[in-house]
Amino acid sequence: EVLANQIAAGEVIERPASVVKELVENALDAHSTQIDIIVAEAGLKQIQVTDNGAGIAAEDVLNAFKRHATSKIHDRADLFKVRSLGFRGEALPSIASVADMVLATSTGNEVGRRVHFRGGKLIEEQASAVRQGTTVTVSELFFNTPARLKYIKSPNTELANIGDIVNRLALSHPEVAFSLSHEGNVLVRTAGNGQLQQTIAGIYGVNNAKKMLAITAEDLDYRLQGFISLPELTRSSRRYITVMINGRYIKNFQLNKSIIAGYGSKLMVGRFPVIVLAIEMDPLLVDVNVHPAKQEVRLGKEDELAELIRKTIYERIAGENL
Ligand code: ADP
Ligand code: MG
Repeated sequence: EVLANQIAAGEVIERPASVVKELVENALDAHSTQIDIIVAEAGLKQIQVTDNGAGIAAEDVLNAFKRHATSKIHDRADLFKVRSLGFRGEALPSIASVADMVLATSTGNEVGRRVHFRGGKLIEEQASAVRQGTTVTVSELFFNTPARLKYIKSPNTELANIGDIVNRLALSHPEVAFSLSHEGNVLVRTAGNGQLQQTIAGIYGVNNAKKMLAITAEDLDYRLQGFISLPELTRSSRRYITVMINGRYIKNFQLNKSIIAGYGSKLMVGRFPVIVLAIEMDPLLVDVNVHPAKQEVRLGKEDELAELIRKTIYERIAGENL
């Protein structure tokens, strides 16, 4: 069982940023309105995620660490309309198998629970007085899988990856107040008041957010809403392109291409816009079950969506008469 979990961890947990992603997605699935992330040494020493969500009932806590124990899918049909972020029931057992992990949780209706796993083994389980919500503390990631450690890049790169994932998760959830701190410095803080533009301000700065153009569009299948930068406010990296489908941050090569195409010749070679694009569509047209990390999605009618994005951006930029 520990070995199976370590193998699963090999797919889902590649680096500190993967831990942050899985823990924050769990916090979001638990309907948290505040999520605070604290990391030490770029997450290699410690990652702590605290939420004020539903918590886990005392009797279910150990179960949550069993493989494929997910509370989020009940039958096969659910798999095709997943709106919650997690659904494989792999994250907690995977992380627990390759790190030292303490989870303290309470539903608010009963005394909370605190469990401690290390290298996949249960070390301690006890009652714990905690307020409603969940705090997960992951330390010494990959301490027992030295091969994994070899693939870890410099602390700066790992921290940038963590920042990236938190930015994107925060952008996908303007209704949730996020904070990310590293070694005592607050790197991200969003208001959580539901306003996308204010969330963008919390991440890319107030001045940049003010200069971005709002876009909206819809056809029979898709609704788009977002903010795009002017061609002069571009970056040398794709990191600043965030595309979300039904509240989930995704990666899709064709959609990225259609964004770039929307800027046409206005975009210099090697430059990329700052974009936050929220797409709403029938969940039946999205297949999220392509990769364990769940970021790559397949879409029905992908060409139609790509063209809608390209045209909307093209017309919005042209409308600015640059
Ligand atoms: P999945 O998210 O795919 O269901 P995980 O291994 O990430 O699987 O989590 C297992 C289960 O533990 C979840 O289904 C959920 O019931 C519970 N859980 C994990 N984290 C939290 C949290 N922060 N708040 C409430 N419940 C949680
Ligand atoms: Mg999960």
